[in-house]
Amino acid sequence: MGRCLEMHGAGTVIEIESAVVSYREDIALRDVSLHVERGEFVGIIGPNGAGKTTILTIVNGLGKLLSGKVTVMGMKITGNGQEVRKRIGYVAQAENIDPRMPMSVREVVMLGRYGQIGLLRKPGRHDWELVDEMLELVGMSHLACRPIGHLSGGEQQKTAIARCLAQEPEILLLDEPTASLDWKAQTEILGLVKLIHASKSLTTLFVTHDLGSLPISCDRVILMKNGRIWGEGSPERLLTDQNLGRLYDMPESAVREKRKEAVFA
Ligand code: ATP
Repeated sequence: MGRCLEMHGAGTVIEIESAVVSYREDIALRDVSLHVERGEFVGIIGPNGAGKTTILTIVNGLGKLLSGKVTVMGMKITGNGQEVRKRIGYVAQAENIDPRMPMSVREVVMLGRYGQIGLLRKPGRHDWELVDEMLELVGMSHLACRPIGHLSGGEQQKTAIARCLAQEPEILLLDEPTASLDWKAQTEILGLVKLIHASKSLTTLFVTHDLGSLPISCDRVILMKNGRIWGEGSPERLLTDQNLGRLYDMPESAVREKRKEAVFA
């Protein structure tokens, strides 16, 4: 029992040390250090352009460090980080898909398996079973054969989550996954993400710029501004109207109004 707990228990899975990232003259990250423990659900919040997405790109090996160091699941990220990316699921915001796209929901979820099975190999029975299990988990089994371009934004995001789970990731990166969804779909997706995080023992980073979709039930929040970590701690301590007003350069009264709309308020 003790050994089991040790293997699946705490331990740092993401270590970012003094990361500096710049895109020509734009500095996206200025000396950012962040440690994330196995099993943590971390919300990264801040205004547009704060550097939130850039944090996700350096974790999954797609960002280029000017200086600093990133280690994920014990592997130092150098080059393109392809190996580590197989173990990281990524869901971005819903985008318009061409309604003529000739793929079914089930086939799109199978795309998540190719990192494991290899691009030129055919999926086996186990792969299809896993795909169907993930569709069931996100409540999309009834739409499995529908063309991917014929889904609502919320259904599309459930499919994206199923595709990412089919990859059997250990880390889940979510970049504004509820942006452009209506209130009901936002609530459903956030609930699903929390459920999956817990049931699959994942480590999750959830990025949003939107005060209305603050994941206030996360274990820890990171507040970002101008490429720096501006605040870090428990949601109860950090997500005060006063702090958020200073973070977004908004009057506290405007923050209060905005938070009334919050999905997880
Ligand atoms: P948002 O909430 O708008 O998505 P963000 O906090 O995720 O913003 P990033 O996307 O990480 O912010 O961008 C941080 C900074 O880096 C911004 O100033 C942005 O303009 C710049 N930037 C990001 N990607 C690129 C790129 N590919 N080329 C040039 N500049 C970029």
